Amino acid sequence: MTRKTIIIFLSLLLFLSIPVYGYSNTGNVNISNIALYQNIDYSSNIVDVLSINDKVTILNDSNNWLQIKTSDGKVGWIEKYFVNLTPEKYVLNTCGSRVNLRSSPTTSSKIVGQAECDETLKYVDTFHSWYIVEYNGREVYMASWLGEIISYGKDKIYLIDDKINIRNEPNASGTVLYQGNKYDSFDYYGESKGWIKIKLPSGEYGYVAGWLTAYNNNNFINGINGYKKTTDNLRLRVGPSLNDKIITVIESGEIVRVIDNMGEWDKIITASGKIGYSYNEYLKTCNPLEGKTILLNPGHGGKDPGAIGYSNKFEKYVNLDVALKLQESLKNLGAEIVMTRTYDTYISRSYRANMSNNIKPDIMFSIHHNSLGNHNYFGMSTYYDTKNNANGYLGKKLANCIYDNMVQINGVYRDGVYDRNFEVLRKTDTPAALIEIGFMSNEWEERNFHLESFQNEAVKKLSLAIIDYFQSVN
Ligand SMILES: [Zn+2]
Repeated sequence: MTRKTIIIFLSLLLFLSIPVYGYSNTGNVNISNIALYQNIDYSSNIVDVLSINDKVTILNDSNNWLQIKTSDGKVGWIEKYFVNLTPEKYVLNTCGSRVNLRSSPTTSSKIVGQAECDETLKYVDTFHSWYIVEYNGREVYMASWLGEIISYGKDKIYLIDDKINIRNEPNASGTVLYQGNKYDSFDYYGESKGWIKIKLPSGEYGYVAGWLTAYNNNNFINGINGYKKTTDNLRLRVGPSLNDKIITVIESGEIVRVIDNMGEWDKIITASGKIGYSYNEYLKTCNPLEGKTILLNPGHGGKDPGAIGYSNKFEKYVNLDVALKLQESLKNLGAEIVMTRTYDTYISRSYRANMSNNIKPDIMFSIHHNSLGNHNYFGMSTYYDTKNNANGYLGKKLANCIYDNMVQINGVYRDGVYDRNFEVLRKTDTPAALIEIGFMSNEWEERNFHLESFQNEAVKKLSLAIIDYFQSVN
């Protein structure tokens, strides 16, 4: 083939692989531990059990189900509302000159191409403050501070709460143009500084805080699921009636997630990820964290301010704000919470690790916000230590659960999960993880995580992550 025919052939292939409804043909699983079925049928073979944030390719769409392919090539069917479809996104080079495209997310990596001024490239993801874009059929990196994420209004975003302000700028000081309510949908036009650009009914563009939006309009992913415990052996059926086929029998005492209710029947997900309906007389509401002790450790305090933010605010305060909200949320889910500090006081890191060794909680979770001399950097990262902590493999599991749940928040970008020997992870054998929610040193990210609404959404995802962790190790 000549170069020209190859290009025509490749463009045709690209055209054919993009579904007509606009979304890119990829998505992410939005719930942990969920079965992938061979057919559109809860009683068909289970091809795989998917985890939250697994990236999938959409092959087919039938009624309320999607046929998907996992990253390791397994193909099966899943209900649509368990997958967040990724909107079609592009990166526009806005820096006013040519931009280098690189082989990895660092300015010292190999230059593999260039993007012209005002050129757009297909967006894949954001990692380590770099955009991953498609260039000549491969994934390359472009510095995020040199471009912006745009789109053409073909995909929808949904609001997850009532009375959400839509503003004329991507920050909370912008003028309010409109107020929207839960499940309202808008066309997606891109994102900036963790805020999403949408078109209002008036035809005007506006910005909504990313964390108050979802790419899917189901109600259970946007809050904490309902949890119930079986009080007897219970039949799981393909539909809500005694005539429906039995899939399996759930043992007495198992905790299940309830995703819908139809009178005397609940639609549930079992601990092993199977979906079906059960008669709910033998399903009692329960607290999924009952019997668990959690040590929460808001970083720094007192004479140690931690990072000093772009706006000169201290990290120690925002760590404590999040920790106190998380304490409340986890208590409501049945856990017993011990705090290393509940006010602005200095405690050494080794004292905190010792506290963990004395109390022997089920997990220890430390909350921090990051900082760097380079103000361009943003993103959320989590940490564990498998070299020094005897239960480091559990800490790793916890760090992964936290990361995969937190990146479900629009406006929270990936900065990685790392094995590091931080003192509060190293000097204890409690399963321990640490989060850096974002960068105090980045102007817009710092502004976002001081907002009450951002902290509330972060706490919801952290709570779900901790439930996921305990479900996975039980
Ligand atoms: Zn810190």
